[in-house]
Amino acid sequence: MERGIESSFGRYLNYVRISVTDRCNFRCRYCMPSGGVPILSHEEIMSYEDILFLAKTLSSMGVKRLRFTGGEPFVRKDFVPFLERLRSELPDFAVAVTTNGSLVKPWAKRLGDLGLDGISVSLDSLKPDRFRNITRLGDLGSVIEGIDALVDSSNAVKLNTVMMKGFNDDELPDLLDFAREKGVLLRLIEFMPLDSEVWLENAFVSVDDMIDGLPDGELWIPERPSDSLTSGPSVYYRNRTTGQRLGLIAAVSHHFCDRCNRLRITSDGEVRPCLFDVRGRSVMSALRDRCSEALVETIAAAALDKPECWTKVARGESHMSRIGG
Ligand code: SAM
Ligand code: SF4
Repeated sequence: MERGIESSFGRYLNYVRISVTDRCNFRCRYCMPSGGVPILSHEEIMSYEDILFLAKTLSSMGVKRLRFTGGEPFVRKDFVPFLERLRSELPDFAVAVTTNGSLVKPWAKRLGDLGLDGISVSLDSLKPDRFRNITRLGDLGSVIEGIDALVDSSNAVKLNTVMMKGFNDDELPDLLDFAREKGVLLRLIEFMPLDSEVWLENAFVSVDDMIDGLPDGELWIPERPSDSLTSGPSVYYRNRTTGQRLGLIAAVSHHFCDRCNRLRITSDGEVRPCLFDVRGRSVMSALRDRCSEALVETIAAAALDKPECWTKVARGESHMSRIGG
């Protein structure tokens, strides 16, 4: 159990991403079609009690790290009180959150008090019109206010930017300056072809091209990968002059499937061993029955069924907003 849940191809899974809602107040172009996606009813999604029971079972299976995502997690009522309860009942978990940042400002102080492992805020542009164009519904001002409030309340903030040619790829210097001024880490993500309704092949920018596009490129040097539990799929570069770090996530061009330690659980309780594989196993009835044995059995089977690599799965249509990134 030390290493986590046994998976296929010699991997162990100790990091679980749980989507608390499929709903979102944005419609980002790389994530959702303009009309949004069909949404689940409240009865269909895991209650907070269900998620707590799930988290306890995951802990007994050796999982060390949870990330809560969505949809937009702060759209769901009482998300922060839920996190507070989770922290008090399961203090050993490293807990992180991924958010679009638009609704976090009123919660920033309470989030800071929780001492979370990290809060990742998606930020794709610093130009208000462009931000609105990419997110379709988003207001840049509310996200910047959210980031400021999180930083002021001592949260460990990271910024996630999906780089897209013709949308925001010319903003790398500004995004780097912004992150440095705020004292937060910027991570650049490759656009992933998850959903054919939103995929734009011509907008794809590889991590190699992002590195080539770094301002003062000769000053950026790669860091050695870390083996720590919290190390993810990012590779890091450091600016020799300013000391600023930059993360790059090459999910498509240099995928990291051979060392993937993740399992995903959708808000309606489907265990997804791979982001790109539409096959999932539902834990909903085991959860609602509070049946640990059935829950462990289903999660363990899903982990063993993890495909060797996303390039080898029979892909269907999948919405990132449902799985949580
Ligand atoms: N709403 C929250 C947010 O935007 O951060 C959490 C959910 S969102 C699905 C999680 C992450 O997935 C975000 O960082 C988002 O940028 C990323 N994402 C969504 N669609 C993507 C795609 N097609 N390729 C790469 N990243 C994507
Ligand atoms: Fe919503 Fe996040 Fe998807 Fe944007 S990336 S539409 S904020 S779930």
